[in-house]
Amino acid sequence: MRDMIKKDEIIEKLLNNEIKLHEIEKFTKTVDEAVNIRRSFIEEVSKTSLKHISNYSLNMEEIIKKNIENPIGTIQIPVGLAGPLKLNGEYAKGDFYVPLATSEGALVASVNRGCSVISAVGGATVRIADDKMTRAPVIKAKSLDHALEIKTWIKDNFKELKKAAEVTTRHGKLLKIDPIIMVGRYLYPRFVFTTGDSMGMNMVTIATENALNLLTYKTGAHEVALSGNVCVDKKPSSLNLIEGRGKTLVAELIIPKKIVEKKLKTTSKAIVEVNIAKNLIGSAVSGSMGFNAHYANMIGAIYLATGQDEAHIVEGSLGITTAEEMDGDLYFSVTLPDVPLASIGGGTRLETAKECLEIMDAYGTGKVKKFAEIVVGIVLAGELSLMGALASGHLARAHKELGRG
Ligand code: NAP
Repeated sequence: MRDMIKKDEIIEKLLNNEIKLHEIEKFTKTVDEAVNIRRSFIEEVSKTSLKHISNYSLNMEEIIKKNIENPIGTIQIPVGLAGPLKLNGEYAKGDFYVPLATSEGALVASVNRGCSVISAVGGATVRIADDKMTRAPVIKAKSLDHALEIKTWIKDNFKELKKAAEVTTRHGKLLKIDPIIMVGRYLYPRFVFTTGDSMGMNMVTIATENALNLLTYKTGAHEVALSGNVCVDKKPSSLNLIEGRGKTLVAELIIPKKIVEKKLKTTSKAIVEVNIAKNLIGSAVSGSMGFNAHYANMIGAIYLATGQDEAHIVEGSLGITTAEEMDGDLYFSVTLPDVPLASIGGGTRLETAKECLEIMDAYGTGKVKKFAEIVVGIVLAGELSLMGALASGHLARAHKELGRG
């Protein structure tokens, strides 16, 4: 079929709906040619010029295999550099420069200010408190008693289910099936895995499917859906907040009073008050799950730069900031229970993502934990900087309003 018809003919056929968008590659020698035709088609349909989307250096031949369908080009997002970020992690030790992709002006500058505070106190402590990826199908039993029997069967046959799951992958390991939530005769067993250096969603989906085949065969349960939303993938969730998902990350530092005043232009007391009034009480009264100022800003920017699944920003936005005054000094921490991350697989193989990961020496095998600690370090930097800015604004207002009272 290849080479039989030319660009104009393909576009004509697309316009007449005689061939579909995903069929163009059948008529071209290279994926780039198909990309070009598909783009020309939409330029004609929408009467637009896509001269920027058409400019790319990514290898479409590879990308089309796993990362995108019906490509028409790429978008460009500015990437800024923050750092040096000094970290005292178990895996990330030393100074790091961190690429952040965003179109939000002031974000990189603000994160950079946080980095400079962290460096001034000799670095932040960054740790991975937990590490897992989950998939929870929904299955249906014949009755309530049948559902209870299945629940018991799952617990009694964990070893068999683990074996079935793990034949599908070298790096995925089933840790537990917990919780097994029951609603009427529906069951939601949450399969919990470690996934090596990959984020693991494809891996655990394939592995869970294999275990589920065994489960339904042995118990007579009916599979309603491979994902029953108890995973909980790409949605804000109390379960993830409590149980964790992806990497559970924590960072802390203590900032001497003088540095709070000099670099953040405020006081520990003011930051503590903003944290209580805004991050804790404000989030509570609004029913928010993000008891923080803006984790999503740093998570989003580093996810986009490094080829993470951008829909997981919603999970990375969860978490709690604490601030305490200690004789005028400031104790400050961020806790992110739900940060899916990869240094291998998924979008990390895109050339630009790989380059950004390489800036931090965080690409490939054995690097995901180091990357995770850098991620929580940069979240700490951004959170601290914004909290400082809000607190100094609060002080300025207080001086203006009260001082002139
Ligand atoms: P993946 O690229 O599908 O799988 C990772 C691959 O890398 C596996 O083939 C794994 O082999 C291999 N691998 C080699 N060295 C590894 C190492 N050191 N550690 C871990 N794996 C290693 O990626 P994924 O993380 O499973 O899935 C990520 C993708 O899933 C993203 O593109 C995301 O957008 C998408 N996603 C899928 C779903 C879904 O429901 N399917 C949901 C959300 C997102 P072995 O398996 O043999 O270990």
